[in-house]
Amino acid sequence: MISRERIMSALRNYSESDIKVATICSHSSLQIFHGARLEGFATLGITLPRNRPYYESFPTARPDIILEVERYGDILSDDFQRRLIEENAIIIPHGSFVEYVGAQNILEKFYVPMFGNRLTLLWEGDRRKQRHWFQEAGVAVPKYFNDPSEIDRPSIVKLHGAKGGHGYFNASSPEEFNRKFEELRSKGLIDREADVVIEEFVPGVRYYPHFFISPLGNPNLPNLTHGSLELLGIDRRLEVIDEVYRGLPKIMEEYLDYTVTGNLPVVVREKFVVDLLEAAAKIASASRKLFNPGLIGPFCLEMIYHPKRGFVVFEVSARIVAGTNLYPLGSPYSPYYYSEPMSMGRRIARELKTAIRENKLHELIH
Ligand code: ADP
Repeated sequence: MISRERIMSALRNYSESDIKVATICSHSSLQIFHGARLEGFATLGITLPRNRPYYESFPTARPDIILEVERYGDILSDDFQRRLIEENAIIIPHGSFVEYVGAQNILEKFYVPMFGNRLTLLWEGDRRKQRHWFQEAGVAVPKYFNDPSEIDRPSIVKLHGAKGGHGYFNASSPEEFNRKFEELRSKGLIDREADVVIEEFVPGVRYYPHFFISPLGNPNLPNLTHGSLELLGIDRRLEVIDEVYRGLPKIMEEYLDYTVTGNLPVVVREKFVVDLLEAAAKIASASRKLFNPGLIGPFCLEMIYHPKRGFVVFEVSARIVAGTNLYPLGSPYSPYYYSEPMSMGRRIARELKTAIRENKLHELIH
């Protein structure tokens, strides 16, 4: 793993008046660039040549500087990393950045200063570690099955490394699991050793609240051991299975797919805001115990409201999520923290600005 000292030595040479907020042109980058501009930062986009004109076509969000790569893997080359450092770039790692560059590559080869705690990549990317994290936090979770033979109720089977829920399936018994697993295997969709995670399918309503934790602030909620925490928006993912009713009266197999295709804005019944913030505070506090300094900046909890059990957490995304793209000018919650339009992208830039002013930039980069 790249040592923190190596990253800090690059950061120490940065000209703080010329910092550029940088990321790959994808995922939530328009919002990140737009928000950074509003906070007075210059921006730098990394793009494949094909995407360049599209990203240049947005007058209020296009990056000030664009660097092209033929393949995203080229970002790891020494030349490219040095170039980013010369530009005083601070990378904002969104979902596609992590996906395209690779979590392991980032940990082992990427030494450009990056907003947030790199250790979250280890904890977020491994579902077993996530479970340990949830247990430490004491939040309600689905029942987990360590082996297909244990399946005794409707369950969801998640293929390890599956992208955006594609290829997940449901099974209510070991037999159903075996049959569906074999089917996928015979179609060549998974191999024999495919790593799967099996958990109870929780019936209920899904919520994907977006939080921001600032290590520069003081605890503002019960159960929060460090930083201040904000709820900056909520979305619900639009997954293929959500439209399964369109094939009725037949259930068409193509609809049984959890691939994310977009996001819808959501507000939660107001009394439940308390439950969302409570779970987020517990998750943030546990993160500091497990991988100091814990979560920094944006994260999202994926939750299901079960009519009897309340909110169950089935996943955490420890970075900016694409659902925040719904709110480039603020969400139904952001006005309760800020009197100006505050997107998640802008909130990240605001944090950088505050840290620069207070001489604490190093606290945001690990
Ligand atoms: P991600 O794509 O962020 O890794 P998951 O892979 O955990 O999220 O889940 C993908 C989708 O599968 C969720 O958005 C949700 O619709 C559904 N899902 C996941 N876990 C459960 C569960 N335990 N019960 C019901 N639905 C679930």
